[in-house]
Amino acid sequence: MNGFTFDYKSPRVIFGAGSVSTLPDEVSRLGAHRVLILSTREQRILSAEITRTLEDKIAGFFDKATMHVPEAVIQEAEHVFRDVDADSVVAVGGGSTTGLAKALSMRLDVPSLVVPTTYAGSEMTTIWGITEHGLKKTGRDARVLPKTVIYDPRLTLELPVGISVTSAMNAMAHAMEGLYSIELNPILESMCQQGICALFAAVPRLAAKPADVDARTNALFGAWMCGTALSHLGMGLHHKLCHTLGGTLNLPHAETHTVVLPHAMAYNLPYAPRARSLLETMLNTSDVPSALFGLARNAGAPISLAELGMRSDDISKVRDLALRDQYPNPRPLDPAALTALLEDAFHGRKPSSMR
Ligand code: NAD
Repeated sequence: MNGFTFDYKSPRVIFGAGSVSTLPDEVSRLGAHRVLILSTREQRILSAEITRTLEDKIAGFFDKATMHVPEAVIQEAEHVFRDVDADSVVAVGGGSTTGLAKALSMRLDVPSLVVPTTYAGSEMTTIWGITEHGLKKTGRDARVLPKTVIYDPRLTLELPVGISVTSAMNAMAHAMEGLYSIELNPILESMCQQGICALFAAVPRLAAKPADVDARTNALFGAWMCGTALSHLGMGLHHKLCHTLGGTLNLPHAETHTVVLPHAMAYNLPYAPRARSLLETMLNTSDVPSALFGLARNAGAPISLAELGMRSDDISKVRDLALRDQYPNPRPLDPAALTALLEDAFHGRKPSSMR
């Protein structure tokens, strides 16, 4: 084993079915007295129900969290935060709500507690994203990391199957690219493995029985592990392609990850022997890309970029953008092979395994 540096940044984590009952104690532990509760409109009722135990510590509610964290929404939330004289935020929801909490923590230097209800994993990362004038800026800042995360799988029982599956595939993508990251160390490798195994096993169970608490628990644990991978490890071609498809064509985030992942793995794994062998053992297959493709298709997830709204003449644009920037990737970026990858993903063909 080679030497390595382990610079681990993590919130305090409370994990398990029913763990949301610790919310009052955890808010006290933060030293918070006046909490602004953040959610989307759809999750306003849920956020009010689970934070009721905070009683007079609730300073107010802000339920306009929005995908990709628009600047105007942050400004409105900042205004409300000051208006109600809050000293901290509690976010209940997915990556969009967590993203708003992060923006407020960074701007106002206030602590946050996050109660995730999807598998996006943003609560484990120091990455922020803010959208202004149609452009999404992202960066890293240790201040955005929540002080505390409460993972309660019971809050995910009603996450629709479609979002559950694509959100899980999105999470697995972090850990799969993490496995060939140049920053990988034995501890993060183990976390990546735990995340992938937990989610890969949970997806078919969630598709068959969405309210299966045990499967939900495993999936949320996997999301935690995979979010940690995203925060600590550099990502490669898969994330570059998805960022480009989302940013320039406005394709939906988790669905895009779901479609591209088998094809990106088919492209990279022949050049990443250790990641390939770990994945083959973990997923009990000699064809990881096909196993991922089958997992998504059998769970009813989208399998083609065409069905997400991409047009065939966008293929060359996306390929050129993916070729433009330099980023670490196990396999050199080859224009013809990238075109073939995008065509397969566009049409929803089975990945050309180990092309
Ligand atoms: P989301 O937060 O936008 O949620 C999608 C929808 O599902 C919303 O309407 C929400 O109200 C609803 N929902 C969430 N949980 C639910 C539940 N348990 N039951 C019923 N409905 C529920 O989606 P997401 O996939 O969690 O997050 C995507 C966003 O997160 C993207 O903007 C992405 O860029 C960002 N993200 C950021 C990071 C990071 O590290 N900064 C990591 C991953 C994702």
